[in-house]
Amino acid sequence: MSISIALFTQDLRVHDNPVLRAALAESAEVVPLFVLDEGVEATGFAVPNRAAFLAGCLADLDGALRSRGGRLVVRRGEAVAETVRLARRLDARGVHLAAGVSAFAHRREAGLRAELGERLRVHEAVLTALAPGAVTPAGKDHYGVFTPYWRAWRQAERRAPLTAPRTVRVPADVPGVAVPAVRPDSPDLPEGGESAGRRRWSGWDVDAYQEQHDDLAGDDTSRLSPYLHFGCLSATELVALAERRGGAGAEAFVRQLVWRDFHHQVLAARPDAARADYRPRGDRWHHDDAELAAWREGRTGYPIVDAGMRQLAAEGWMHNRARLLTAGFLAKTLYLDWRAGAAHFLSLLVDGDVANNQLNWQWVAGTGTDTRPNRVLNPLTQAKRFDPHGDYVRRWVPELAEVPGPAVHRPWLLERPPRDYPAPVIDLAEGRFARGRGR
Ligand code: FAD
Repeated sequence: MSISIALFTQDLRVHDNPVLRAALAESAEVVPLFVLDEGVEATGFAVPNRAAFLAGCLADLDGALRSRGGRLVVRRGEAVAETVRLARRLDARGVHLAAGVSAFAHRREAGLRAELGERLRVHEAVLTALAPGAVTPAGKDHYGVFTPYWRAWRQAERRAPLTAPRTVRVPADVPGVAVPAVRPDSPDLPEGGESAGRRRWSGWDVDAYQEQHDDLAGDDTSRLSPYLHFGCLSATELVALAERRGGAGAEAFVRQLVWRDFHHQVLAARPDAARADYRPRGDRWHHDDAELAAWREGRTGYPIVDAGMRQLAAEGWMHNRARLLTAGFLAKTLYLDWRAGAAHFLSLLVDGDVANNQLNWQWVAGTGTDTRPNRVLNPLTQAKRFDPHGDYVRRWVPELAEVPGPAVHRPWLLERPPRDYPAPVIDLAEGRFARGRGR
């Protein structure tokens, strides 16, 4: 009886999973495999928040496979070596894997290909709705600007979502290890797994998205990002569900999923953009450890910035508008190197993702794909527009919880400023960004 391996990576689901379906179509028995990769751990990417969420994802996937007669086999080691060892031992007919976009994923795929040759089968459009490279501008290998990508994306043919398999037969004698429990850094982390992700989607109102998505206090975005990052939910399926629903909210939501595809296709073509400026602009970054620490700790003296940073610490997640303005404050107002900010985000974000984090940071810093790289987000203007009554700040900055109304955004103007809240770390008129770029 033939055996195939479905090597799970960032596709921790049974619904719409081309990797699992292809392995099941190929062989009567399948080993659904996940490797707790010591290579990932060595990069520092497996931080406690994501490791804790991942443990939930793996437990849930194991449950979904068990309810279909199978189970998840978890091994620990180096992903290529572990997979190849198992494939040889079982004389596996094929090893199925989702195509990834990061330099790490490229190396893993190349390593497996070198050992397994034709037996490795890589599946496209598993992590994203459209595969990187599926649409390209004339003479180039990827889109460097979002709007033309969005236009091309809408015209492109996409695969239809797949149903979950009914049964999964796993050979009996394949040993695995238990997934260790991990204590997250953030106390209010969401629950990992496909079941939690599907519950979140069905309990959320996409119709209101267009109106609400920038309202910081309203907090009404989907919060699906960690489920998309770990592939508990499929972007293909979410796009199809939103398109079926229709309306302005669903269209705005699909557009955000296309931003995700956009960043993935940039990183797939330029894996070095995880660290190197995508479009270098000659920045001469300012260095100041005390300012960096104040930003990380949410003690910059600008309440809207501090609220975002404290939400990140508490939840391992931050509202997109807060990500934009906290990142803008670091990279444009303090004019500190975006890489330091991106690293702090990655150390806590439960959805922390090389493509989305690094390329959004580059967008904000003006070294990325933004067509207006000199745009500066003033935190006070942002606060007025996106937290007009100050509720978001009061929720996250307890020192200011008693300050009523929008006055909470400028505590230095209060008759009696709270003693335990810091004074602004920088004068907004200082304009370091303009000087650093030699303007
Ligand atoms: P929704 O508004 O409900 O959007 C739905 C989905 O679309 C998201 O779950 C996400 O997968 C995708 N999406 C939305 N906005 C973007 C965007 N700008 N770029 C790419 N995809 C998007 N997102 C991550 O998934 N991981 C990260 O590490 C990450 N780092 C970021 C860093 C900075 C500096 C900035 C400005 C943005 C970052 N984002 C990141 C993008 C965005 O902020 C989050 O995806 C979003 O806030 C997640 O919340 P949500 O699921 O409620 O999003």
